[in-house]
Amino acid sequence: MSLMQFQELLKKEPKYRLAQAKKALFRDLIESWQEATALPLSLREELDKKCSIEKPENTFISKDKNTVKNLFILADGLKVETVLMRHKDKRNTVCVSSQVGCPLGCSFCATGKMGFKRNLESWEIIEQVLFFARYLKKEKEKVSNIVFMGMGEPFLNYQHVIEAIKTLNDKEGFNLGARHFSISTVGITEGIEELAKEKLQINLAISLHAPDNELRSRLMPINKTYPIEKVLSAVDNYIEKTRRRVMFEYIMIKDLNDSEEKAEALAKLMKKPLYFVNLISYNPTESFKASLPSKIKKFKEVLEKEGVAVTQRYRFGQDIEGACGQLAAKMFSIE
Ligand code: SAH
Ligand code: SF4
Repeated sequence: MSLMQFQELLKKEPKYRLAQAKKALFRDLIESWQEATALPLSLREELDKKCSIEKPENTFISKDKNTVKNLFILADGLKVETVLMRHKDKRNTVCVSSQVGCPLGCSFCATGKMGFKRNLESWEIIEQVLFFARYLKKEKEKVSNIVFMGMGEPFLNYQHVIEAIKTLNDKEGFNLGARHFSISTVGITEGIEELAKEKLQINLAISLHAPDNELRSRLMPINKTYPIEKVLSAVDNYIEKTRRRVMFEYIMIKDLNDSEEKAEALAKLMKKPLYFVNLISYNPTESFKASLPSKIKKFKEVLEKEGVAVTQRYRFGQDIEGACGQLAAKMFSIE
């Protein structure tokens, strides 16, 4: 992945060249700079040499074809993964990474197990999306949603994440509406506060996964710094400012957080306007198993009975280890 220096390289050119290059990249979704015919040949060649556009060389497709995963090798040799989820209704969601690895070490997450290498630059985030936009263009489809649910904690890389969103939201460029972006966070309150101040109407999702601090701290060590009451108080301020709905993610882990008692406790926390819970099937890792469907059903019923808004999310792409929490770039050891 080497798109990063492209703006730098165009600095020596007249200003309109940058606009032309951006149009080629974001609108025409060129696969090689040679296709950017508005630019002079010598510049195209230089761009191809120094800022080549990613080719689908490390791409894996699930058996049902609904999930596609790509491994990106960054300029410094580190690797990140990105997943495309193709829904039946033609929605295409790109699940992007914001960091190489993750420093937060949640016990149920494969990314958390690999440790932390570094934050991604905004262009490294943008390129993950453009890659799949080009991929879909071949089938006359488009990226309709972008979720920050790949590797890493987006609010530990706030500036680059917001910069990437602003670039992809830009009307002159990729032009994806703000409402089509979602950030998932463990609840870094500073990030929630900053997001409330942005003029962007993007969606916020909080990884809750447990209704009490004792269990949540066991699953997510960061809960010691950002315990449930602190996170919910930041969310309440966010809602007061933005009047936007907030999603609470709750992965269903066998015999850990899926009892009726936990559902009752969760209902007490979640019974608020503009809160909604998303129950997520756990993608098994070495450490834990997924809850039985009957348990999930019962859990959902308890929440519904208590008047909590609740939805359910299924698995995507398990066979290519392309599901949430399974991204770890471990399949590829091209050191
Ligand atoms: N770091 C952020 C965003 C990336 S993780 C966060 O934690 O919110 C995106 C989502 O995938 C989070 O809700 C996370 O808890 C969840 N997740 C992690 N491992 C998972 C697994 N094995 N199965 C299902 N979801 C998982
Ligand atoms: Fe990091 Fe999110 Fe995985 Fe936790 S769940 S380790 S915060 S990527």
